[in-house]
Amino acid sequence: MDGAFNLGKVFGIQVRLHYSWFIIFALLTFLLVSPYWSSWLWWAVGIGACLLFFGSVVAHELAHSLVGRANGIPVKSITLFMFGGVAQMTKEATRPNAELKMAAAGPLCSLAIGGVFSLILFLNPDMSQPAARMVYWLAFMNFALAAFNLIPGFPLDGGRIFRSLVWRSTGDYLRSTRIATRVGVGVGYSFIAGGIAVVFLHPFNLTWFSGVWMAFIGWFLKNAASASYRQTQWRETLKRFTAAQVMTVNCPVVPSDITLSQLVREHVLPSGCHLFMVADEGGLQGILTLQNIKSVPQQEWAVTQVKKVIIPIDKLKVAHPGQDVLSIVEQMDESGIDQVPVVSEGRVIGLIARDDLVRFLHTRSELGIK
Ligand SMILES: [Zn+2]
Repeated sequence: MDGAFNLGKVFGIQVRLHYSWFIIFALLTFLLVSPYWSSWLWWAVGIGACLLFFGSVVAHELAHSLVGRANGIPVKSITLFMFGGVAQMTKEATRPNAELKMAAAGPLCSLAIGGVFSLILFLNPDMSQPAARMVYWLAFMNFALAAFNLIPGFPLDGGRIFRSLVWRSTGDYLRSTRIATRVGVGVGYSFIAGGIAVVFLHPFNLTWFSGVWMAFIGWFLKNAASASYRQTQWRETLKRFTAAQVMTVNCPVVPSDITLSQLVREHVLPSGCHLFMVADEGGLQGILTLQNIKSVPQQEWAVTQVKKVIIPIDKLKVAHPGQDVLSIVEQMDESGIDQVPVVSEGRVIGLIARDDLVRFLHTRSELGIK
């Protein structure tokens, strides 16, 4: 997800903030402070409550991440955006129980935090009005966060819990994902329909704004569920192929001391290839893709040597010809690279680039082949 920036690392997990969070931050502060504009105390309470809520969302995502990590699902980063947070996993769970524990950890954490705030309120009934309102609001928001995430529409936590249960009873990962994502799409459409009904019929004195908001959440859930389904299908397809079946063979070999202009004129344009091995007398130096060439402005191509932009051999992870493609993609995600050479008996026999895989999947889906 783009449009986010790094806040720092917690337990080795990168925490990122999406710009849409500022909208929520402003909206929540507005709701808390609205009747008391002139009071500095209320402003302090409003902003403080938002920061504490922000901490609660981070705790929710960290709960997923730490339980995931303890169950063999590495989490690279957490991104906080307007509907809460998303933990970026480099691979999906391979056992239903691991997924169940990981999915349940977030809502349980939010329930626990909500419980702590409720307890504070219960033990201090004579708190000053702004403080009591802040604690009440934090308890409410954490319970709401748990409740929203427990909606059984994939990819929400509730949908993941649902999938893990179906998966455990059927033993079929793809089928359980198909069911969970379809339910997710259904939940999304129900929210949209509910939102429209609220806009026109105003049940329970709800405002048109709540209706628009609800429809917007529904639209978001529907898209997220469809995207998750497609992604799962791709993963299943990739799992069925080996590196040797999808790699690009006969990548042209080019020397490292030519300029980018020369490379483009003499090799890229005539061959149409977009992956090159760069080798000198000393052997393979690295590889080069169109992306590497494009990273240099065109007016500098005449004075930039190929060796300046190659991906050096020591930065590359390698794959074996028999390795399944899904595990290669996970390897790429984990180390943030876009290509791997396929090595057999110490020799590079081909290359796999992310773009090629995208094209490979796209061609199959165009033809309707699963
Ligand atoms: Zn969650």
